[in-house]
Amino acid sequence: MKSKLMIIAGPCSAESRDQVLQTAEALAKTGIYAFRAGLWKPRTRPGMFEGVGAKGLQWLSDVKKETGLKTCCEVATPEHLTLALEAGVDILWIGARTTADPFAVQALADAVKDMDKTPEALLIKNPVNPDVELWAGALERFHNSGIRQIILVHRGFSSYGNQLYRNIPLWHIPIEMKRRFPGIPMLCDPSHMGGKPQLIAPISQQALDLMYDGLMIECHINPDQALSDKAQQITPIQLEKILSHLKVRENSQNQQSLESFRSQIDSLDESILQILSKRMEVSRQIGEYKQQHNMPVLQSQRYSQIVENRKELAQSMGLDSDFAKQLMEIIHKESVKVQLDQRTPKD
Ligand code: PEP
Ligand code: MN
Repeated sequence: MKSKLMIIAGPCSAESRDQVLQTAEALAKTGIYAFRAGLWKPRTRPGMFEGVGAKGLQWLSDVKKETGLKTCCEVATPEHLTLALEAGVDILWIGARTTADPFAVQALADAVKDMDKTPEALLIKNPVNPDVELWAGALERFHNSGIRQIILVHRGFSSYGNQLYRNIPLWHIPIEMKRRFPGIPMLCDPSHMGGKPQLIAPISQQALDLMYDGLMIECHINPDQALSDKAQQITPIQLEKILSHLKVRENSQNQQSLESFRSQIDSLDESILQILSKRMEVSRQIGEYKQQHNMPVLQSQRYSQIVENRKELAQSMGLDSDFAKQLMEIIHKESVKVQLDQRTPKD
């Protein structure tokens, strides 16, 4: 790993002074750039842990005093922002739910303009929904308030029914942000993307292959006891191990671009396979329905319609219609096989 990478790590939430200080002391040994901890937690459902609030500001200040680490917390309202800056928090982040709300972002941008202090950096996470304009809009609102040290964080996007990721990475969206705002650093948050410890290393590597500038990773001194995002937090020791195995691509500019293209291909291939797996599942359900209603597996009129329609669709997307025909034939052949297999009695 190269030390140039900006690593921000710390618990999802500050829970107690001991938990914060112990986590920070262990993390300081790994050479991270800043310590994160959420004080005001946006919770999806009522009744979940909502954070310790302003009480935790003193703990962050103690972290800075005792470890020398910069501190970082989420702000979602003008009151959070004022309290955090007055208490000396170095870096602020705007959470994914807040980025999706232009009223909230504008209120924060107005509040920061009124302050004497500005944050050393302001992190803007992608909105929960895959909308480039909302993300760009948040950046512009803070820029208009005079904030220049803006860093973007790709933390993945909400999707329904995806089992692999908690928040699916859509790498082309941050790539579009980089195109529109060249020079703005981009971090990746593999904790909220993957939602599980075992996905942190592979997602982080993908981000580095796409030339990200750093990572934000949730770490807890005792993840089993965490009051929020328990399933995805790792220990400082696990973090150190992951960081030591990451490969930072330091090849020539050409090679870097090639790696970036290859990573895009890898993630697009993964999306194709996920979609094919979903399609096959629906095909299986159709197979069951046909069997229950005593219908044949093959309905050739429907098949011809599919092929003709997909050829046209492919052509309108700039693909070769013959290629689309062959692709549909292979997919259809597999669907028929799956539906026939369903009818074969198993002994
Ligand atoms: C967090 O970082 O703990 C958090 C709430 O993140 P997000 O806004 O990405 O969900
Ligand atoms: Mn979290």
